[in-house]
Amino acid sequence: MPRWRIAAVVLAITAALAGCAGPRGQYFSTEGLLIPAATCPVPPNSVGIAEQLPPISERSGCQIPNPWKVQSVATVAFDQPAKLNCGMVSPLATWIETSVQPAARASFGEEVVTVDVMASYACRPRNNRWGGKLSEHGFGNAIDIGGFTLASGRVVTVRSGWRGAPDEQQFLREVHGSACRNFSTVLGPGSDGHHEDHFHLDLMTRKSGRSAYCG
Ligand SMILES: [Zn+2]
Repeated sequence: MPRWRIAAVVLAITAALAGCAGPRGQYFSTEGLLIPAATCPVPPNSVGIAEQLPPISERSGCQIPNPWKVQSVATVAFDQPAKLNCGMVSPLATWIETSVQPAARASFGEEVVTVDVMASYACRPRNNRWGGKLSEHGFGNAIDIGGFTLASGRVVTVRSGWRGAPDEQQFLREVHGSACRNFSTVLGPGSDGHHEDHFHLDLMTRKSGRSAYCG
């Protein structure tokens, strides 16, 4: 059979299988992953502007036990509301207060007023490889940050600043490195080719004794 015909048969079978489930109905692998806790010690609306949502549970395995729509933390606005599990909010507030703002003052002499949220809850496999393991975004346990807007209106993006002006490089490396104190996974430019324009921060539960992964 010619190669193009084999390819056509494979495509037809793939399309038929996809027709049964559809991307939204597929179950992602959750092997080794732990769903984050529904309880969290710090109410999100005590550290920012946030409202509680009803629990989310999708057929694909995506779920948020205690979801919140978050519009700001530590007086820093999100450019779009983030949908996150409760436990993500307090570490974000702590990171912004104790790392992002001191780093901004040191590098720029001014504070951050807005965070560019590129993604929060998203029912998808890691790095959008279908059939792969569920991303922590599918548990509302991750946030992607593309940049920061300073009080003067200056915009600092991960995409251009990581290898950009010295003050931007200094700031972005400082906040990327310090995020490892607050989150269990921190990815950014150079991690794996999928994070060249944002920082990925999540609270994936690791086996005891394993330290944070800071890529
Ligand atoms: Zn991410």
